[in-house]
Amino acid sequence: MASKTELPALVMAPVDCPVCGAKTVAQADKRCKANQDPSLKANCMVANHDDDGNFVMPTAESYAAFEKGFAAFIGQ
Ligand SMILES: [Zn+2]
Repeated sequence: MASKTELPALVMAPVDCPVCGAKTVAQADKRCKANQDPSLKANCMVANHDDDGNFVMPTAESYAAFEKGFAAFIGQ
């Protein structure tokens, strides 16, 4: 029986904000956030970041493994 603990872990990798190119929360404060352009929806503010304030996203490889594991978990 699959359980939640058997799901593959997501591997986080550093990313830039797709809107302003900020790599950290501190940079975002001076770019997206400072921009105040409502059309940008402040992408920086919704990005994941690690404890050091660096923006991160799951790697494509680890995300694919996670999805596969999750599909098995829910029985598809
Ligand atoms: Zn940004």
